[in-house]
Amino acid sequence: GKKAGRRQVVAFDPDMLGDERHRRFIERELRAALLMDELELYYQPVFDGQMRLRSHEALVRWRHPVRGTISPAQFVPIAEESDLIDKLGDWVLHRACADLDRLGTPVAVNISAAQLRRGDFARRFADVLAECGAAADRLIVEITETVPLVAGAIEQANLEALRASGIKVAIDDFGAGHASLQYLRGFAFDIIKIDRSYVANLGDNRIDAMIVAAICDIARSLDVEVIAEGVETEIQLDLLRRAGCSAFQGYLLGRPSPLAARQVANAA
Ligand code: C2E
Ligand code: CA
Ligand code: CA
Ligand code: CA
Repeated sequence: GKKAGRRQVVAFDPDMLGDERHRRFIERELRAALLMDELELYYQPVFDGQMRLRSHEALVRWRHPVRGTISPAQFVPIAEESDLIDKLGDWVLHRACADLDRLGTPVAVNISAAQLRRGDFARRFADVLAECGAAADRLIVEITETVPLVAGAIEQANLEALRASGIKVAIDDFGAGHASLQYLRGFAFDIIKIDRSYVANLGDNRIDAMIVAAICDIARSLDVEVIAEGVETEIQLDLLRRAGCSAFQGYLLGRPSPLAARQVANAA
């Protein structure tokens, strides 16, 4: 049948293909995956300074029938090269809004800087919220910077429109991107997410500890929140608290998991 025909392509390892053929392969498979319901959202809890659950981050997963679970790091950068990133973003937002009530907390969705370049991004985002009956103050948008985020007029207008409606805006992977410090000047936002790479060696790297403390100082001056991601040890958590981070996320506190698994865990 038709379905099997598409899947036959998977029989050879796409990593063996050249870059361009690999890209086209993922792109075609992802277009089909969006139609065939192969994507899923996992949710990772985020805690405040009193270790109260404050929100969840939505992280997309692709369950390929042949290749198994494919990580977003493998397909998001390819999606960003075409309109696929907009389709993926729409799917993620619909799914997250539909899950809002069952999650019981605000939800953070990852938005690629590529999506922010579209003139109608904020309007389409608002349309989805209206369709789902989701309140804007339950949404956080994490701007990820796999492609350079430009403080252009369209990007700024989109972010301003989101914030004006009550959506919180976070700068993701702060410190790891192309021009993090420039964003402090170019954009108004609510949250800084410190990149995991600064958290990883916090116990034994004095420079990383100094950088984290400096980011927290800047955030305090700007009156924005700081979320630390990738918290894996009690030592890291303690150091991040003392540096002045206001919220925490990582395997120590909770792994990303499907909503269904979370409900079972909560009920148990
Ligand atoms: P991110 O936004 O920085 O998300 C955090 C990543 O770190 C996630 O990887 C998460 O599973 C992982 N993580 C969480 N806690 C820990 C920890 O304690 N230790 C370690 N080692 N890792 C931890 P994941 O889910 O593979 O996502 C990778 C990236 O893909 C994300 O990085 C984000 O940039 C992108 N992404 C994920 N979902 C979406 C989406 O729906 N849309 C877009 N545009 N990008 C997405
Ligand atoms: Ca994120
Ligand atoms: Ca990221
Ligand atoms: Ca990160």
